[in-house]
Amino acid sequence: MSILSFIVNFIYPPRCAVCNTFLDQRGLICKECLAKLRELKPPFCKICSVPFYGEKEDIHICENCLRKRPQFTSLSSPYIYEGTASIAVRLFKFQKKATTGKLLGTLLKEYSLSWWKKIKQKKDKYVIVPVPLTPKRLRQRGFNQSLVLSRYVSKSLKLPVDYLSLRRTKETLPQSLLSPEERKKNVRDAFQVKGDNLKKKRIILIDDVATTGNTLNECAKVLKKAGAIEVRCLVFARAV
Ligand SMILES: [Zn+2]
Ligand SMILES: [Zn+2]
Repeated sequence: MSILSFIVNFIYPPRCAVCNTFLDQRGLICKECLAKLRELKPPFCKICSVPFYGEKEDIHICENCLRKRPQFTSLSSPYIYEGTASIAVRLFKFQKKATTGKLLGTLLKEYSLSWWKKIKQKKDKYVIVPVPLTPKRLRQRGFNQSLVLSRYVSKSLKLPVDYLSLRRTKETLPQSLLSPEERKKNVRDAFQVKGDNLKKKRIILIDDVATTGNTLNECAKVLKKAGAIEVRCLVFARAV
């Protein structure tokens, strides 16, 4: 530890980015909060990652995906949206807590490395695209949480981020407040692609949370319409 960081740690001892307790060593999260971070583990649907009961090695497609194949190739996530993951996402989004953003970004960045290794396609055409906010929401919040996460993943995978081509043109209600039918309607025609930067590209679509996957599916639909070859979704946490 350098003298400077020793002094900084002395004056501002590190705190947990989730519960704010002091940490006895450097880091972003305390042991208690870390223990309440639940990993999304197999067996789960090989497209949308919804978990199911069975053997760990089971490879299968869930009923929803069988009935109506999503527009995206896959939806992957390191954590289940509950406990620490849901508290942290809300702290970051609504209270603009920067250290929590750093925590989420760092965790997603780590996960993205092992995720990336499993992808067999040629890797020269991938572009990272964050799920956008409307200009009005962006002004209110001051930042797009998905773009913050995208920058972390961009660093680890060494891929460019395109945050201008995909636009959100319609204000939508929070998906969590709506019934399944309303959720589909809510995000319908809410996105647009501008220009042809994403034509013939493979997209890594990034968001903080996936509830039903409807938002990601709608984005994937317009991205493919605009000429993208495939869309793979990566989110910090997935509701189950
Ligand atoms: Zn904590
Ligand atoms: Zn599925």
